Amino acid sequence: MLIEAENICRSYQNGDTRIEAVKNCSFTIREGEFLAITGPSGSGKSTLMSILGLLERPTSGAFRVSGQNTEGMAADTRAGLRNRTFGFVFQSYNLLPRLTAQENVELPMTYAGVRAAKRRERARDLLQKVGLENRRAHFPNQLSGGEQQRIAIARALANSPRLILADEPTGALDSEKGLQILGLFHELNQAGSTIAVITHDEDVACHTGRILRMKDGRIKSDELVLSPQSRADAQKVARFVRHPGHGSADLPPRRPQ
Ligand code: ADP
Repeated sequence: MLIEAENICRSYQNGDTRIEAVKNCSFTIREGEFLAITGPSGSGKSTLMSILGLLERPTSGAFRVSGQNTEGMAADTRAGLRNRTFGFVFQSYNLLPRLTAQENVELPMTYAGVRAAKRRERARDLLQKVGLENRRAHFPNQLSGGEQQRIAIARALANSPRLILADEPTGALDSEKGLQILGLFHELNQAGSTIAVITHDEDVACHTGRILRMKDGRIKSDELVLSPQSRADAQKVARFVRHPGHGSADLPPRRPQ
């Protein structure tokens, strides 16, 4: 299992008041999933994401990444596990303004000690994957918001992370550009990437395969999202159940037992 959280809690002390940002959350994330963590502002999403990405420690509870218990882990071991496991995407892209698109994508590989020729080739491949092979030499301020987010996604993929953590990745984009980013995530997921999107926007969450809803620091529900085809099939079956004999020709084929 990629991620296992058992009864994790995270509280903050603010003067005399103690804020319980995350309360008794338990969930797992499997390799290959595309999920959303959603909920209103203040529900604990960002705190949960920081714990997920090993940026913060839970105050209590067990948190395992790739089977490794992270409790009491030394800071450098934690940092190593974080770099090997996660690719981060942020609402504000966080690209370095003085580096070209190509150089921004190469940066995590530079930190990881990848040779220059290999770095260059992989960055080129990744930029092609996100549809921006013709923007390699552009600087961030010469690119649209949607393009900058694509560069940030290519950068997040650079060291082949096991999980992409995207915090409000469409928050700064208009709805069409936002949909394009969700489409790109969908393609990457189909090609094998595991992706968790953190969003307050229910419409964004609906584009993933699973929605984990938070409220007041707790996980309120954890549901699979039906694909449009499965939803249409389910509606046909429901119609047939209500009116047997009508519309049976439309029923989806039965799955072999
Ligand atoms: P969301 O991302 O859903 O908006 P957050 O995880 O940011 O929710 O916040 C959950 C709660 O924890 C909020 O009440 C917030 O004010 C509080 N909180 C988050 N981070 C801190 C912090 N560093 N210090 C004190 N309180 C915090």
